[in-house]
Amino acid sequence: MKLNENYFRLEESYLFSTVAHRVNAYAAAHPDKKILRMGIGDVTLPLAPAVVDAMREAVGEMGRKETFRGYGPEQGYDFLRESIRGYYARRGISLAADEIFVSDGAKSDLGNILDIFSAENTALIPDPVYPVYVDTNIMAGRRVVFADATERNGFLPMPDENTDADLIYICSPNNPTGAAYSRAQLAEWVAYARRRGAVILFDAAYERFVSEEGLARSIFEIEGARECAIEFCSFSKTAGFTGTRCGYTVVPHELAGGACNRMWLRRQTTKFNGVPYIVQRGAAAVFTPEGERQTEANLAVYRRNAKRITDCLDGLGISYTGGKNSPYIWLKCPGFDDSWKFFDYLLEEANVVGTPGSGFGKNGEGRFRLTAFASEEATEEAVSRIQKMFKA
Ligand code: PLP
Repeated sequence: MKLNENYFRLEESYLFSTVAHRVNAYAAAHPDKKILRMGIGDVTLPLAPAVVDAMREAVGEMGRKETFRGYGPEQGYDFLRESIRGYYARRGISLAADEIFVSDGAKSDLGNILDIFSAENTALIPDPVYPVYVDTNIMAGRRVVFADATERNGFLPMPDENTDADLIYICSPNNPTGAAYSRAQLAEWVAYARRRGAVILFDAAYERFVSEEGLARSIFEIEGARECAIEFCSFSKTAGFTGTRCGYTVVPHELAGGACNRMWLRRQTTKFNGVPYIVQRGAAAVFTPEGERQTEANLAVYRRNAKRITDCLDGLGISYTGGKNSPYIWLKCPGFDDSWKFFDYLLEEANVVGTPGSGFGKNGEGRFRLTAFASEEATEEAVSRIQKMFKA
């Protein structure tokens, strides 16, 4: 037996464990302090009542002989695929139901999609970004090159003709920078991918946070994307499903003459047995008028939190990206080059926890991620402490 030695090439990810370690140590030494956690990318508001009702009803069905269901279709029940299709259609994007594959979340699909691509491909990955893209490619022994996302390009790298890339990762709105591409910018990426015969792996996990005109929420808003892109989406951040688990991936028929769609279907039907019926009923309820209204109300809370944070940074003259089209606010560490030093400073002076940018890639050094997912009260308090700390 030989191990997959590619795993030895992975860099240890100490980011969230180190954050937890430092916070716990500080809390133990200062039991009187109230620590506000503004660093984790997890939601805090509960599922919408329409979602809970739909799941409750589905539980009832599962408990009755006449309505019980066993294995479902691996690629998702028709009712959910049709709801997702309708969601895209309302935004002017026409999809076929068999281009939509329901899954237990975007993270699984982002990793699993690599099954259908050769290990000889080169992956082009933004830096900084959600670390899963890099690690899943390293595990498969694939070559990785980086697209630098820096202050100079507004954290939105554009195609470089000299870069050799077959699998192009785009995360928009981006985790951690909050930067979101315009349709015109994505059109350049689509043109580049088509010239190269490359595929764009578009992560739209935060699409519902986009609020500005001209910014894309789906790669399929761009002409020609059906020939060169796969889109990953999730109910996690848009409808509070981080613990419930549901997402979907769109693989158009035009991509590689239909081969990607057929291969992904084959991959999923071989290695995956579908998302629980109860969860899929809950996910479908997100797209009912009531579900839409209720999830939108939750998103409005996160948007207000983001605005509270960015108003505070504006007032203090601290530069940042994100917040407007994203639950993430990516700020320049004021007075610090080292994002871990700023982490300690903020923890000690304001008892506020964020995430050091260096944990997301080399270009994250000197930057810091705050999230809008905390409660309104905690966000309000964190903001007032930060204001006091910098004005003192
Ligand atoms: N994509 C991005 C950019 C994320 O930040 C996350 C989670 O934080 C995911 C995907 C994972 O989403 P899911 O919960 O659907 O697996």
